Amino acid sequence: MFQCISRHLLDEAATLDLGAQLAQVNPESSIVFLQGDLGAGKTTLVRAWIQALGYAGRVKSPTYTLVEPYEIQGQQIFHFDLYRMADPEELEYIGGRDYFFGQGFCLVEWPDKGEGMLPEPDLIIELQVAKEGRQAELCAYSNRGEQFLKALE
Ligand code: ADP
Ligand code: MG
Repeated sequence: MFQCISRHLLDEAATLDLGAQLAQVNPESSIVFLQGDLGAGKTTLVRAWIQALGYAGRVKSPTYTLVEPYEIQGQQIFHFDLYRMADPEELEYIGGRDYFFGQGFCLVEWPDKGEGMLPEPDLIIELQVAKEGRQAELCAYSNRGEQFLKALE
């Protein structure tokens, strides 16, 4: 049984800080799903995470491209946003397998849209709009996922 951690994120700065904390862990071969409604803060968190890993450029939302690749000191990172995907099979056309079954770090927004085509995640992060700020729940599904939670302790 793996654990979950809840965090209240009072403002955007708290979301950015969460991304920076998660970036303390080597993300090689990890799969992270990000769930939550539009505007919940998924892309904000991913942006902070990728930048804290050392990417100095702009991290844009891959809403139209489905995936945005990055490379930081040999570590490949793939940021997916499957919101606009009509059929999980589309992942096949953009070369999904190559992304998910290598050493890359995959961050996937709207994983439900890719159901049946995605591997099991190591970590699921769910963000929800709260009265003030956001509520985050992070659940590990593997030893690798647990490493990320340890960084938050
Ligand atoms: P998503 O990718 O989930 O659709 P975005 O990250 O694109 O959401 O946008 C979320 C919006 O919420 C951004 O305007 C961001 O500044 C804001 N935001 C992120 N985290 C928080 C927070 N903890 N409290 C308040 N606003 C936040
Ligand atoms: Mg987004």
